[in-house]
Amino acid sequence: MKKEKISVIVPCYNEEESLPIFYKEITKVIKEMGNVEFELLFINDGSKDNTLNILRSLSKKDKRVRYISLSRNFGKEGGMYAGLENATGDLVAIMDADMQDPPSMIKEMYRSIKEEGYDCVALYSPNHKDYGFIRKVFTKCWYKLIGAISSTPQVPGAREFRLMKRKVVDAIVNMKEYNRYSKGLFSFVGFNTKWIKYEAPDRIAGKSKFNFWKLFRYALEGILAFSTTPLVISAIVGIILCLISFIAIIIIIVKTLVFGDPVSGWPSLACLIIFMGGLQLFFFGIMGMYLSKLYLEVKKRPIYITSETEKDKEYDRH
Ligand code: UDP
Ligand code: MG
Repeated sequence: MKKEKISVIVPCYNEEESLPIFYKEITKVIKEMGNVEFELLFINDGSKDNTLNILRSLSKKDKRVRYISLSRNFGKEGGMYAGLENATGDLVAIMDADMQDPPSMIKEMYRSIKEEGYDCVALYSPNHKDYGFIRKVFTKCWYKLIGAISSTPQVPGAREFRLMKRKVVDAIVNMKEYNRYSKGLFSFVGFNTKWIKYEAPDRIAGKSKFNFWKLFRYALEGILAFSTTPLVISAIVGIILCLISFIAIIIIIVKTLVFGDPVSGWPSLACLIIFMGGLQLFFFGIMGMYLSKLYLEVKKRPIYITSETEKDKEYDRH
């Protein structure tokens, strides 16, 4: 009988330090899972370090290693899509190169799919000790908010670390939207999913590519891309105006209480005008965000652009 094949997609952005460690670990796991064939599909997401050269030499000495080098940095979402679209396995896994998604867990994930009949096994790590206080608070609020306003359920602490059957992958690849928020898409496609809780370890080497602001933008689903910034600024200006009017209201109330108010009426009116103006800008901003998404969707720009793969022999000349 033909062996089943698992494709492991690994998005890599400046991972020269982590990659050799990751490769060593994953090959250990592959050896232990002798009854399954593997394909390692690395996506070089426009790395500025030696990542591409490492991938070139890995693919030369190991036929299981494939890579797709993107023409620039498209972000992890673009990288994952490139991987999902090009993976050839019967089952497909996604994991980070930094060992925060331990390769050894694939064994348990595979078992759950084979023996318990799940279509998909996903991991979540809710209490990340690495996160600062503010990030923890924001994350908690975000999950509360999204839970309240969205009909697509989001598991707090969900990672992109997962193993999926081919039918799940096909469903995801069929959603070709440009503004990709994969955790939402994974949830949207449904299927019988098992959630496994684990404690994500710290990154083995290198630095996280997601700082607070990057995560904030990620939470807004990359709305700020291209020339839509003014729309967001209008929303922020709206909020600032609201805050100013609130402060003004408090000052006026206190002033009136302490000194009396010789000209009655006009200050509160002024506050109201500023407040309403601010509020209107704020909501215009929100509308603008949706419009900007639509704008980018309509353009149908590619989600990623390939520059080189393991099949290209061009690099051999260098
Ligand atoms: N990554 C990527 N493109 C990017 C940023 C990150 O392909 O623009 C990859 C990165 O190499 C890693 C994974 O996505 O394998 C997760 O990134 P990171 O560890 O920096 O994020 P964190 O775990 O801190 O959320
Ligand atoms: Mg990481």
